[in-house]
Amino acid sequence: MYDTIIIGAGPAGLTASIYLQRAGKTALALEAMAVGGQIRNTPEIENYPAIAKISGMQYSDDLAEQAKALGATIKRENVKSVQLVGDVKTVVTRNATYQAKSVIIAVGAKSRELGVEKEEDLFGCGVSYCAICDGAFFAGKAVAVSGGGNTAIDDALFLAERCSKVYLVHRRSEFRAEQIKVEQLKSKSNVELVLGYTVDALEGEDCLQGVVVKDKQGGTRRLDVSGLFVAIGKIPNTDMFQGQIDMDDQGYVVAGEDCKTNVDGVWVAGDCRAKRIRQLTTAVADGTVAALGAVEYVRG
Ligand SMILES: Cc1cc2nc3c(=O)[nH]c(=O)nc-3n(C[C@H](O)[C@H](O)[C@H](O)COP(=O)(O)OP(=O)(O)OC[C@H]3O[C@@H](n4cnc5c(N)ncnc54)[C@H](O)[C@@H]3O)c2cc1C
Repeated sequence: MYDTIIIGAGPAGLTASIYLQRAGKTALALEAMAVGGQIRNTPEIENYPAIAKISGMQYSDDLAEQAKALGATIKRENVKSVQLVGDVKTVVTRNATYQAKSVIIAVGAKSRELGVEKEEDLFGCGVSYCAICDGAFFAGKAVAVSGGGNTAIDDALFLAERCSKVYLVHRRSEFRAEQIKVEQLKSKSNVELVLGYTVDALEGEDCLQGVVVKDKQGGTRRLDVSGLFVAIGKIPNTDMFQGQIDMDDQGYVVAGEDCKTNVDGVWVAGDCRAKRIRQLTTAVADGTVAALGAVEYVRG
């Protein structure tokens, strides 16, 4: 019986693990893939306080090492199901069944992809899923944003401050985003709305050199850009919690700044929590808050 089981060893889960170890609790972190989460494959991080520049892989390894040095147990196991209600929580993987007094859900989210050829190859050298994270690498250059919701508009506004030109490619002629933001965007002289088009092809071998967009009639247009920001949504990895815990209509676990869910003894941390900003800093903040909440709960 562990004090706490952490599901997911990304930045949120690993931070929770650090705090639980330092509080003298028995904690088990279960991770389906390599430790570090989404950030692991990012070539460069430049917005983490006190670390001017670091690769995603190095950041992930350092964080995991820090947790392990404090005695953290991290197992590479994919959690298949959970039973969260009651004093004893059960977490089932393919290999084993674990029990704990409390659980921290830190399963993160994945970016929705366009599904066009070369998207994966050009990720990290032109294709990005995070404008706040990668926008600075395209300062003074022309870029495109794909999407029509609030995130796409926010990304385009953010990029318009740094880039020479921003094309916003959206498959419809209207936006799902708030009208006030759309108007803001329309007032930018370096923004061009490319409406009724979808991204059809990516050009470039090692790095992105252009994007071909296509309309419903099959007409195409080439955008001379070195960056493409895909902002068509994220999918939280929360399917297995469906029906056991409060979630919003997009599948994010509902909890306030205290990271406490509606189920006693269960916390949620990081990108899978319903919130507005999803960054490393907010993920590690959630990990801290969730862990300290769990420590208090276990203490009784
Ligand atoms: C391309 C890209 C670049 C980014 N760059 C930056 C940046 O420069 N700066 C910044 O601040 N933020 C950046 N971000 C955002 C940042 O990566 C996330 O905010 C952060 O990783 C969230 O951490 P997390 O721990 O909540 O979730 P995640 O990083 O998603 O980690 C969740 C972990 O849970 C695991 N998991 C999921 N389901 C299960 C299961 N069933 N069983 C076991 N384990 C499971 C996953 O494998 C994953 O390792 C970037 C994101 C992307 C996609």
